[in-house]
Amino acid sequence: MLEDWLAPKAAALESRGLTRRLRPRPADEVLIDLAGNDYLGLARDPRVVEAAVAAVREWGTGSTASRLVTGTTELHAELESELAAYTGHEAGLVFSSGYLANLGIITALGGPGTLLVSDEHVHASIVDACRLARSRVEVVPHSDLDSIGKVLAERKEPHAIVLVESVYSVLGDAAPLEALAALALKHNALLLVDEAHGLGVTGNGRGSVAAADLAGLDHVLVTMTLSKAMASQGGAVLGPTILRDHLINRARPFIFDTALNPAACAAALAALRILQGEPARPRRIHETAARLAEACEVMPSSGAVVSVPMPGPREAVAAAEVCLAAGVRVGVFRPPSVPDGISRLRLTARADLSTADVDRACAIISSAIR
Ligand code: PMP
Repeated sequence: MLEDWLAPKAAALESRGLTRRLRPRPADEVLIDLAGNDYLGLARDPRVVEAAVAAVREWGTGSTASRLVTGTTELHAELESELAAYTGHEAGLVFSSGYLANLGIITALGGPGTLLVSDEHVHASIVDACRLARSRVEVVPHSDLDSIGKVLAERKEPHAIVLVESVYSVLGDAAPLEALAALALKHNALLLVDEAHGLGVTGNGRGSVAAADLAGLDHVLVTMTLSKAMASQGGAVLGPTILRDHLINRARPFIFDTALNPAACAAALAALRILQGEPARPRRIHETAARLAEACEVMPSSGAVVSVPMPGPREAVAAAEVCLAAGVRVGVFRPPSVPDGISRLRLTARADLSTADVDRACAIISSAIR
């Protein structure tokens, strides 16, 4: 039965060069990795590793239950207050992933009385949250303030939330946060900024919302992931305490999901503390991103992501294979993971790459894409 059902779908993907395959990576591979999201280069830092190991010894491997049962450890509480303090928000709430943080906040604030205004390029987790929220959803052209203002002004719903990313995950461009926050305020709406690719990178590490001096404002809320710059796993919502209390009571992905495991909390805490003590790390990300963009003759990135458009999915995969054979791993993004339908290489600048490795990567990639 499954053969008849799925084989034609697989064949259709294959004929368009869009089949995805998993490639397990060995622990000991020697590659210059520009595909991962370990922006600060802390995922193998001995201090982060030791913190995770110590947490396993102290708390065990699992969190044992959901947050409201036994899953909230002192590590969760510490991580929440340190994340909030670092980014300039009143409170934080940790979820098991960034995906669930987006599902949690958007569904807990959504419903028939809330209009959701979503940028067309937002991450799949925000798209899925909109589908689950039972709200009217308006998808607006990318970073188009006029369209956002229009749908906010014309709405019937008493509440509205504008959904954006601070640094877009695939194209690497930045949202006009100051203008968005002013527009939202003017129309009595909230602005929710996904800082998955901002935190640890922009604003000297504190993220783009803090850099724009918007952190702590009542109508500007943030979601983030612990899986990229924070070198771990998990996600969080940052904002006013009253929002945190609402989510604890209403966000289904918070209430019904087993709590983030203690090792992941401890690793993220360790990474956060290192980031605060080593401000050169975010600076290094920007230097490396600028070098990569120059080598590929593309627009400089506002964060760690350098996006290199390719003629098609097959060319993108072929270029990535050439890079890999030469010792450099790059990301390949093809439809449906590209907002504009253009297949591309996605290079991520990491703070721990040596100048020699960056030089080598630039030479290999610039020759592979030509
Ligand atoms: N938002 C954005 C913008 C992302 O890029 C990602 C991760 N790819 C997520 C949310 C989801 O975060 P996580 O991987 O922690 O679930």
